[in-house]
Amino acid sequence: MMLKKLLQAAADIIFPRHCLNCAILLERPGAIDLCPACLARLLFIGAPFCPVCGLMYPKSAGDSHPCTVCGHGKYAFDRARAVFAYNKVVAKMIHSLKFSGKRTGLRTMAALAEHSLLTQLSCPDIIIPVPLHPKKLRGRGFNQSQLLASVLFADQGHKIQSYLIRTRPTRPQLGLRGVERRQNVAGAFAVPEPDMVRGRSVCLVDDVFTTGTTVNECAKSLKKSGAARVEVATLARVIDL
Ligand SMILES: [Zn+2]
Ligand SMILES: [Zn+2]
Repeated sequence: MMLKKLLQAAADIIFPRHCLNCAILLERPGAIDLCPACLARLLFIGAPFCPVCGLMYPKSAGDSHPCTVCGHGKYAFDRARAVFAYNKVVAKMIHSLKFSGKRTGLRTMAALAEHSLLTQLSCPDIIIPVPLHPKKLRGRGFNQSQLLASVLFADQGHKIQSYLIRTRPTRPQLGLRGVERRQNVAGAFAVPEPDMVRGRSVCLVDDVFTTGTTVNECAKSLKKSGAARVEVATLARVIDL
């Protein structure tokens, strides 16, 4: 342990660490590569929230209670939780991971998730990252949800499986309207070997929960294939407070 700390201290001198958001040099680097000002801008999801889908309410909403969507039992997944609300700081972290392949943010994301609401999710039999279409995967070279899953569930890495596939290319959900979102991903996922998920509990992992359309479509496909339970873990969630 001592040696690990020494090596880290040496690495910090040789490779100075910068804030993932504003790029300022970090004076006291730790597990989180964000300066105090940028860290303070993160909004962690907490009570009051919907116990089913994890939607956070303003403090004035009182106690945690089901949202209107969950009140009608509209989601195919059983429970969803996110680490923090989607904002500019989070967007930048995700963007640098997704589009410039910078994996430096992964350690920070994992550290931030450690005490988040993700800890409320049940221990799954299988962890499935939301898949990319093979064409997109070839272009990007990696699936950001797969990377996220490997750091958010570092101690359960052996459970990460690609039993879910994207059968056709889809457009990014961000920027599409309600109906367009649903049409965009409708029937876009499949489980080629249903035996692998039948009767098992699954945790789906994605970077952002926008309106839940994508993970819901994934959950539908998994449930249709016999999955006993589907929960969703995302790094961020779009919230209108
Ligand atoms: Zn900063
Ligand atoms: Zn809800």
